[in-house]
Amino acid sequence: MKRASRSEWRSAAAKRLQKLGGTSCIDEAVCNVVARVLDDYQCAPIDLNAVMNKLNVVGVETDDQLIVAGELRKEKDKLKIYLAPGLPKGRRRFTIAHELGHAFFESTGPGCPRVGNELEALCNKIAAELLMPTHIFKRAVGSNPTIDSLLKLASDFEVSTSALFLRAAKLYKCCSFGVDDGAIHWTAGLAKHRFAGASSSLRRGIECAMRGEAGSDLVDINAGQSFTRWQMEWRPLGGSKQAVFLLKP
Ligand SMILES: [Zn+2]
Repeated sequence: MKRASRSEWRSAAAKRLQKLGGTSCIDEAVCNVVARVLDDYQCAPIDLNAVMNKLNVVGVETDDQLIVAGELRKEKDKLKIYLAPGLPKGRRRFTIAHELGHAFFESTGPGCPRVGNELEALCNKIAAELLMPTHIFKRAVGSNPTIDSLLKLASDFEVSTSALFLRAAKLYKCCSFGVDDGAIHWTAGLAKHRFAGASSSLRRGIECAMRGEAGSDLVDINAGQSFTRWQMEWRPLGGSKQAVFLLKP
């Protein structure tokens, strides 16, 4: 889902972030506030423990009663992150980083926002910026993202494939999608419905990937009134019935 326009942000949380970040542009504000909690020496993978120290978070614990992935709790004058058990590594790190977004708001003085859809969206943005800071990410990717370099970076940054490709779609002219057992599972930079009526090369590519083969082809994707042609590349993901596809103009 795209929520680009700055005027769409209306919550107290967004206003607080804009003020602290020194700009009405939410993405820039996120960059600015995250830069203040990251040490200059940080490189991939980002050390979340160092960020926790700066945000008054004393640790991470598992709570098998938790019905959501993560939760930030106040304990005396400190904060602690609780996680549901069994999260895969990338999901676990993203959840910690999301809760650090809440911890950031807790550090911003009285009247801290604690609920709201915009607050949750902002904490996701803070999480992505914490795990893959814009300047470190761009330096690592260079000017031309390739599917193999992006897959390597998912492991370097210790994030999930979908989180990494979402970040790439946000910062570069590319889109991507993940396939799970023959069906499109997630998309980045392109809404799912845009794949309706795509050229038959899309189906062929997915079938090929499900057989465990890497490949590339051209694909025509629905752009509303017309179709746009993309260079499509795909890689199967380690033995499972999963694959990732990268689309470039
Ligand atoms: Zn949250």
